[in-house]
Amino acid sequence: MALLSKVSGKLDYLRERVAERAVRALPASTLNVACRRPVVSFTFDDVPCTALSAGAKILEENGVRGTFYIAGGLLNRVEPDRNIISEEGCRELAAAGHELGCHTFGHEIVHTLSGRALRENLTRNGALLDSFEPPVTKRNFAYPYNQGSLRHRQLFADRYETARGGGDRINRGKVNRGFLWGMEIRQPEQDALALVRQIDDVVREPGWLVFFTHDVSDTPTPYGCTPSTFSTLVRYAISSGCLVLPVRDALQHVES
Ligand SMILES: [Zn+2]
Repeated sequence: MALLSKVSGKLDYLRERVAERAVRALPASTLNVACRRPVVSFTFDDVPCTALSAGAKILEENGVRGTFYIAGGLLNRVEPDRNIISEEGCRELAAAGHELGCHTFGHEIVHTLSGRALRENLTRNGALLDSFEPPVTKRNFAYPYNQGSLRHRQLFADRYETARGGGDRINRGKVNRGFLWGMEIRQPEQDALALVRQIDDVVREPGWLVFFTHDVSDTPTPYGCTPSTFSTLVRYAISSGCLVLPVRDALQHVES
């Protein structure tokens, strides 16, 4: 049984990798990242409370803003190792000038939903986000678990300015608007801190570096980092001459 489950786990992994390559290779919409000045975005998925209390605060102290991808169905959730932001927290982020992005309503893997279910899901989350700030025509999106969808790619291209996955690369040249590269800030802490080298890289050869993380805590989950490391990355990006902008505003700069 153990062997069978190992083989099946490996097959699932391979299936995901093949699907990701297919989604990346067949963009419904592209973006030409050709900026002369390097651009860095700091983004948060799920948005635990500490992304607001520590993450947003560090960005604000340094005079910059970030993008927070919210899944409405997770709001106020208490989990063993993290609590998720409230409605009031979302309003606070928007009022401070941060960007609210969409992350589905219930944190679903998008390719598991039918077209109709996905449209309803995204409309529901969009309406919720619009209740926190003046309505936005086209938001930015991040895929739960960084998993895109081949059959739904046109829907994401139509509804969102961009949709972000993972992949740990810098966006340069012609990239898939519906599957932007994201660079994860996560544990172990020394790896998170070593991401300053990625900032050096985007300075050397300008492009758009989109960081993503989850909680910002002195006792981070495997998917977060400490305030000290987050602060180091933000300050390093600014002092290296990068434009540090939410995804919404970065889009005004990356094409030229
Ligand atoms: Zn997520």
